[in-house]
Amino acid sequence: MPPNAKKATPPAAKTAPAAAEKSQAQRALEKLGLKRDIDLALHLPLRYEDETRIVMLKDARDGDLVQIEATVTDSQVSFRPRRQLRVTVDDGSDTCTLRFINFYPSHQKTLSVGARVRVRGELRGGFVSREMVHPSFKLAGGELPGALTPVYSTVAGLPQAYLRKAVLSGTSRADLSETIPGAFLQKTPSQAMLGLREALQFLHNPTPDVSLATLEDHTHPAWQRLKAEELLAQQLSQLQAKRIRAAMRAPALNGPAMRGPQCTLYEQLLERLPFRLTAAQQRVSDEIEQDLKKNVPMHRLLQGDVGSGKTVVAALAAMRCIDAGWQCALMAPTEILAEQHFRKLVAWLEPLGIKTAWLTGSQKAKERRESLAAIASGEAMLVVGTHAVIQDKVVFKNLALAIIDEQHRFGVAQRLALRSKMTVGGEEPHLLMMTATPIPRTLAMSYYADLDVSTIDELPPGRTPIVTKVVSDARRDEVIERIRHQLAEGRQVYWVCPLIEESESIDLVNATETHDSLSKALPGVLVGLLHSRMSVAEKKAVMGLFTDGLMGVLVSTTVIEVGVDVPNASLMVVEHAERFGLSQLHQLRGRVGRGAAASACVLLYSTGDAPRLGEMARSRLKAMAETNDGFEIARRDLEIRGPGEFLGARQSGAPLLRFADLAVDGDWLAWARELAPRMLDQHTELAHRHIARWLGGKADFLKA
Ligand code: ADP
Ligand code: MG
Repeated sequence: MPPNAKKATPPAAKTAPAAAEKSQAQRALEKLGLKRDIDLALHLPLRYEDETRIVMLKDARDGDLVQIEATVTDSQVSFRPRRQLRVTVDDGSDTCTLRFINFYPSHQKTLSVGARVRVRGELRGGFVSREMVHPSFKLAGGELPGALTPVYSTVAGLPQAYLRKAVLSGTSRADLSETIPGAFLQKTPSQAMLGLREALQFLHNPTPDVSLATLEDHTHPAWQRLKAEELLAQQLSQLQAKRIRAAMRAPALNGPAMRGPQCTLYEQLLERLPFRLTAAQQRVSDEIEQDLKKNVPMHRLLQGDVGSGKTVVAALAAMRCIDAGWQCALMAPTEILAEQHFRKLVAWLEPLGIKTAWLTGSQKAKERRESLAAIASGEAMLVVGTHAVIQDKVVFKNLALAIIDEQHRFGVAQRLALRSKMTVGGEEPHLLMMTATPIPRTLAMSYYADLDVSTIDELPPGRTPIVTKVVSDARRDEVIERIRHQLAEGRQVYWVCPLIEESESIDLVNATETHDSLSKALPGVLVGLLHSRMSVAEKKAVMGLFTDGLMGVLVSTTVIEVGVDVPNASLMVVEHAERFGLSQLHQLRGRVGRGAAASACVLLYSTGDAPRLGEMARSRLKAMAETNDGFEIARRDLEIRGPGEFLGARQSGAPLLRFADLAVDGDWLAWARELAPRMLDQHTELAHRHIARWLGGKADFLKA
């Protein structure tokens, strides 16, 4: 069926909809989020159909989408090759067959012999005569529309005709008064600027002379106007969130409170580290320190490629906080990751006399009570854990800094909970979020405009680049040989199997089988298995053996995806690499190459029953083999998949851009960024109206 063939509107739909249908349609409108008049006005067409012209069959070519007016000369139900309605029509220049596989008595009635009908569909060369399959049709007569007919995205129970009417009346009722001051519209990336009302009316009801192409590729000035509006709303709301935050108070963490003449904890930790900070680590530490000294809550994202050394930067920030006499909390998305941070921090901080409390959901009641008591009394200056850290029972004595690792793994609701729980006596804690998935520049400037960003753009010295090989599953034996070699050198190996939710049990079988066959192939080597169905205690036991170097090979589903740090591991094998996303592969690869030994990553692919790898999978694996640079990977990932994936949790809350496309609308983004602060300062009232119009109730999410 051609994409533009729509189900014929039954004639009944042209009369006033019955009450029952109306309420069903009303519910469908709400389901689409079309509640306010302005929502209807901003529900823009997906595409347009050209019903303005009637063509003669003799002038139309096969493959054309045409509208004809013709007389029915024959109508039959035939049964071969299957039951179908075949209607022959003649427009005086030629004949054509209309074919319907699904049809109702009402079709037959309208298309009875002698009837004059208006038919719209794709013309194809048929067996005997030319034909249209499932065209739309109605009785001829009535005026031709003067303009292109908009087609809207809709849901079941909401016919286009009804939706179109609702949108038009919503548009005429909505308050579309200008919110962007005229002066701001003088200098824009587009020459011709339309007013908002003008632009919307045009898009819902374009004039006959418009070029369909400029509407479809969104270059028409009316589209430009909407992109501008939308990007401005996004910038304004983020700027507003930022300012609201700036008006809040946080403890200024200014140097040691009670350590007397001794070195600060910060200096002591630096002293004890077995390495020197890289210049990039020092720079971001200083940026964070500047924020912490202010009595305004920090809202900073620390991004750095896998292995760039974010943990120590976090620890140093914690020292600044504890030096000033305040508590710090560090939260990680998984228990394994949280525990790893805990161990590392305890090893660093215990000798400095700092007590670190551990909090997680799986903890024994007694241990948990002790942790809670130490946190409440302030005996524990640092708290490390999973999201258990933000549960109701947890009461801090004086929390001033919250650090969230792999922030995109946390939901919006969790982050909101964090903020509200940690606000004590009107003072907010400082917030440091960390991520190993660098955010491409355009995204940082749009979706994350309310964040300050620090970037570690350098890896610690002495790392040899990881060599990545893309290898067919058929050469598994060679890979096992390679593993033997690494083990003989005293190194350790990860073997990762995919775990995809829909087929979780099959994948578990797969991981278990891999574990068995590797155990057989490597006698005398401890091969471990880690998967998501194991209890936390089991996982910990396995991870512990690997971390301590007792286990040679760790077979795992993707639970090791983020954060684990075992510098002695030098080989990463990813099975069914074609099933992983690009940034996921990059994260996995980042588990090796953490020590001085030369490391490698083997991406095993399997084409299964297919003769070749799919296009997307191939470009992902190619990108992996070509570069180790996380920013480059992120850029390509954005190209392949679009922005949704990067936004993680933010995606579910913050409205995604509907009209603007960051890949082509960089100019408009720059315009909106320039304008937003001026508008908020000089035209505050208009700015608020603009935000409300575009974001309705959704602006709340931006505070997370
Ligand atoms: P990530 O940024 O991925 O969280 P980690 O903080 O886990 O990275 O650091 C990766 C490894 O590099 C750790 O073993 C850490 O101790 C080490 N490391 C961090 N900073 C340096 C440095 N400046 N010099 C040498 N090694 C470092
Ligand atoms: Mg990390």
